[in-house]
Amino acid sequence: MQKRSPRTPIFTNALKRLESALAHVDLSEDVRERLCHPKASLSVSIPIRMDDGGLKTFNGYRVRYDDSRGPAKGGIRYHPSVNADEVTSLAFWMTFKCAVVDLPFGGAKGGICVEPKSLSMLELERLSRGYIDAIVDFIGPDSDIPAPDVYTNPMIMGWMCDQYGIICRQKVPGVITGKPLALGGSRGRDSATGRGGYFVIRELETRLGIGPGSTVAVQGFGNAGFMAAQFLSESGYKVVAVSDSKGAIYKSDGLDIQSVWQFKQHERKLAAAYCSGSVCEVQEYDKISNSELLELGVDLLVPAALEEQITADNAPRIRAKAILELANGPTTPEADTILKSKGIAVIPDILANAGGVAVSYFEWVQNKSGYYWTDKEVDDKLKERICREADSVWNVSQELKTDLRTAAYVIALRRISETIEAKGTKEFYDGKN
Ligand code: GLU
Repeated sequence: MQKRSPRTPIFTNALKRLESALAHVDLSEDVRERLCHPKASLSVSIPIRMDDGGLKTFNGYRVRYDDSRGPAKGGIRYHPSVNADEVTSLAFWMTFKCAVVDLPFGGAKGGICVEPKSLSMLELERLSRGYIDAIVDFIGPDSDIPAPDVYTNPMIMGWMCDQYGIICRQKVPGVITGKPLALGGSRGRDSATGRGGYFVIRELETRLGIGPGSTVAVQGFGNAGFMAAQFLSESGYKVVAVSDSKGAIYKSDGLDIQSVWQFKQHERKLAAAYCSGSVCEVQEYDKISNSELLELGVDLLVPAALEEQITADNAPRIRAKAILELANGPTTPEADTILKSKGIAVIPDILANAGGVAVSYFEWVQNKSGYYWTDKEVDDKLKERICREADSVWNVSQELKTDLRTAAYVIALRRISETIEAKGTKEFYDGKN
């Protein structure tokens, strides 16, 4: 049997992005030293009573990467591939994402290694409450604030917030964001990631040489992928392909996004938790594979699934004009180099998908003040922030003659280093400044 070469840890790849950005900014050595290590990592086991009476143990994680700029912030993922390396990388990206859109937060992430679709609703609830029991001392509304991520949703956030309140004997809505509206959630949180990505495209489209009428392919048709596809197609973009874990569908003159979504929803078996239908069961469209979707000759490619989908293997065959990274970490550093040499603009994850955490911040502010905003207030504030930061990422990339990812990291690094340096660095103690 052929021996497979071991995969580079995702965190090693994540740190490469930090190194390339550091080459463009003159910062204290202290900043690099601080940002190369997660601040705190917790690994827990969660024993759950299953419906058949048996006891099953799941591995869970929470990593607080950096909290220089404020309480650490980041979602909780339920997926069979969750591990400490992935959670650490996701927490690292959250640190830079919060800084690039100027939120007063650091970065964190959590996850449970589980195939959530194999659980009943009651097992899912026991697991979610069990996870909070296990990490309760690690999180808090002023220290580390979880939210949804892949395969977690408002209902799960509601259970988790409730469990935290039960343990603390008080209501603490600000400990978790992405909650249902009735439990202190924010208007607009559900659509925020897709909407944020859409705002980034509208802000940069002329500069990218795309616009209404351009073709789009979306890999991953969960909440973020669907919402972005919906907003883009409403504004005249032609979404020609979408995919999920089971396969992809294609129609050259554009898909009817609403009807594909409704089909997926209709097929759900676990009421309100996950849909079990697949986009590739929609009869009227051509079926293609996930890898064919990534390589379509579209104007805009939107990876909205998991990490490391665009690699050195398939990057030479990518034909899109621009890529909007709605997923976290979908492109490897090697693929970045190839895409750059082909002149493909990559709008990095830490900007492209920051709409979700931006509205999480709004939710936290509303929870803390006890005063709730309208849909319009949320959307206007999101648009203003995302467009402003997309514009500065573009401008910094022009000034420094770098790709957009490096520019986004440079902006984030400048903001993070300001807070690190304010507390004193080697240069300060050496008497140099
Ligand atoms: N999981 C989302 C992300 O990766 C949202 C995080 C949050 O709202 O805290 O950005």
